[in-house]
Amino acid sequence: MRDLQFIEEELNRCNRCGYCMQSCPTYRVERSEIQVARGRNHVLRELVAGRIEFMPQMVQPFFDCLLCGACTVDCFGAVQTNELMVRAREAYHARYGQPAIQRYIFHKLLPYPQRLARLVRLLSFSKRSGIAGIARWLRVLRWISTGLETADNLAPTVPRLFLRDRLPHMGFRPLRHNDGGVCAWQLEPEHATGPKVLYFVGCATNFQVPDPGTAAIALLSKAGCHITVTANNCCGLPPWSYGDMEAARLLARQNLDIFSRFDFDVLVTECGSCSAFLKKYPHLLPDDKRAADLASRTCDFTELLARLSLPKPISAGTTVTYHDPCHLCRTQGITEQPRQLLVDAGGFQLREMREADWCCGAAGSYNLTHPEMSFAILDRKLDRIAETGADLVATACPACIMQLSYGARRRRWQRPVRHVAELLAAQHGLAPAP
Ligand code: SF4
Ligand code: SF4
Repeated sequence: MRDLQFIEEELNRCNRCGYCMQSCPTYRVERSEIQVARGRNHVLRELVAGRIEFMPQMVQPFFDCLLCGACTVDCFGAVQTNELMVRAREAYHARYGQPAIQRYIFHKLLPYPQRLARLVRLLSFSKRSGIAGIARWLRVLRWISTGLETADNLAPTVPRLFLRDRLPHMGFRPLRHNDGGVCAWQLEPEHATGPKVLYFVGCATNFQVPDPGTAAIALLSKAGCHITVTANNCCGLPPWSYGDMEAARLLARQNLDIFSRFDFDVLVTECGSCSAFLKKYPHLLPDDKRAADLASRTCDFTELLARLSLPKPISAGTTVTYHDPCHLCRTQGITEQPRQLLVDAGGFQLREMREADWCCGAAGSYNLTHPEMSFAILDRKLDRIAETGADLVATACPACIMQLSYGARRRRWQRPVRHVAELLAAQHGLAPAP
């Protein structure tokens, strides 16, 4: 098992007190020892100590974890169970092999953005042309895979234009490699008084939820930033989450090569998961000095915009409740900035929900691999949102937006779920009202 010293040190700090039980979303659903940090760590400890053999059933304690990090906050020893589970997944795949589809996506699609774009365009066409609808009606999707049917439910519509396709319509001019291919898009604001921003476009933002990205870019431009949008690859978080360090490192290196071509003050993205993982590059690539430099210059969109100035719009008394994405609140400690922006730069009245920092169950693609657990966790979150009676739901991660929007549709709510950037952009006349 790799990183054995780290694993043993973390496991040794777990004194089996059980404090992690109170806030573990999977434990609160199943009330089973195997679904909480204490139980997961116990299985790993026995395995590492050689007291038990690897067995296929370990897929449950190791892979049912959301990697949300809530247990670490409640743990006196701050045991990093999410990090331990990623190492356990890596070892599990080394023992039993990685599923072929997963290996194909992480090694043959994500490092090749053109291939990925072609595949998503094909899927988008099948949705728009009605082929996917017919397949759903005939239950073909469920027959192929329940994950495919869940994905179809989570993303019932597809954007007409990916985020990068929208850039020319927003006044961006393409920058080209020597071979003529586009390597970035640039926008020079009329009065560039802010920092030089290199904008990172996450996969979910580009292909499925582009509105938060376009809203964030419009707001940063209004705040005086000079913006360059990169033709970056996936940040690497999906393969890392499944314990595929090799693919995660490859994507991180590809991105560092891309970023090194630009002169910028700050790397920004509105995806809370991508910003968290970009800040993690020094852990992933400890021998690459560029990783530490990049991490020191990476900001989540809410973090940067809170430092810039936007006028407060006239308030219409609209109420909003804010859901903290795990990768923003726990991995990056960003909780105040989105709330402050909603009130100060958005003119909204904030209504706090209980358990605002509890995972919504999206957890990357957890909702596709574990739909039952994921939607049970989502139900608890929806109850907390409903208690506030707020007009709008705000969050700051595309995966949470898709999950919460799915929940809102299931409950037939008239309560839109939007990224903080979209709500602010609407208040400043840069995007349609929700
Ligand atoms: S992970 Fe932390 S909170 Fe949970 S049992 Fe171990 S020491 Fe206690
Ligand atoms: S990371 Fe989240 S789901 Fe996993 S054990 Fe900790 S609290 Fe539970």
